[in-house]
Amino acid sequence: MKAVRIHQFGGPEVLTYEDVPDPQPRKDEVLLRARACALNHLDVWVRKGLPGVKLPHILGSDIAGEVVEVGEYISGFKPGQRVLLAPMHFCGRCAKCVAGLQNQCREFTVLGNAVDGGNCELIAVPAANVIPIPDHLDFNQAASLPLVFLTAWHMLVGRAAVRPGQTVLILGAGSGVGIAAIQIAKLFHCRVITTAGDDSKLEKARGLGADFGINHYQQKISEEVRKITNKEGVDIVVEHVGAATWDESFKSLKPGGTLVTCGATTGPNVGIDLRFLFSRQLTLLGSYMGTMGELHEVLGHVFAGRLKPVVDRVFPLKELRAAHEYLEKSAMFGKIVVSP
Ligand SMILES: [Zn+2]
Repeated sequence: MKAVRIHQFGGPEVLTYEDVPDPQPRKDEVLLRARACALNHLDVWVRKGLPGVKLPHILGSDIAGEVVEVGEYISGFKPGQRVLLAPMHFCGRCAKCVAGLQNQCREFTVLGNAVDGGNCELIAVPAANVIPIPDHLDFNQAASLPLVFLTAWHMLVGRAAVRPGQTVLILGAGSGVGIAAIQIAKLFHCRVITTAGDDSKLEKARGLGADFGINHYQQKISEEVRKITNKEGVDIVVEHVGAATWDESFKSLKPGGTLVTCGATTGPNVGIDLRFLFSRQLTLLGSYMGTMGELHEVLGHVFAGRLKPVVDRVFPLKELRAAHEYLEKSAMFGKIVVSP
């Protein structure tokens, strides 16, 4: 099959389109023909080098395609079936896994991180990862969904326990987590404030339901939040930007508010004034992907049309390098997808 692999860590130039042996599925696996694979910032981190990544390596976490072959031990799937893959790898038998907390499993990793991903034509995965998709979703839309909708759902629902009527600040309206979190917060009838680096992104965010937009290059986030909330602050901040926005995110919280973070795109080191944390009784929450149960729950809302995929642009798989360069410019609104 054709695949894009990296043989060394580095810039987009290390992405190599080449022939690799077809995967040989085990009897408990499904072989999938990948029709689309969405990009995430994780692809950039892995490409630049993360511990636990064995070379050569295939990137790509979010995969949709058709079932080619079903292992002897598996029932419930048939060749030709249209599906997407849960973007995670877990042991399935430890205390965390059987309790439904796959993202706390010691073997947990994201597809395309410590195991090969979907920037290829064929991939073999356990049956638990395979989720049928409705006819009204095309493969590019389906591939754009799992990682960011699961991440945003786990942040808002699983970790921050969002409630109807709350005010939520969502950073990075055009990012994958942003487009998912805006829609999820609106599903819970929240008031949504979001940020972006240009006004056209803020306009598109309003189209997804955001009530207020802050241009983070022209306005100070915490000051605008104070104005919008009549000096009160927000109940929840959805953080994934990291160092560049951390202080502003922290200052935007109301007393008793919750900051939940799943990423550090602009850098991992931030400061916390402990006096502010205790006296205002703030809550800081870390969030990493989500559980299989949550993935099925959030996809149910997408399949029913209550949450919508947002695909910015589709590249051919062999132009993955151009897709990575485009991702790193952060000019997109929504997901970037490659198609084999
Ligand atoms: Zn486990």
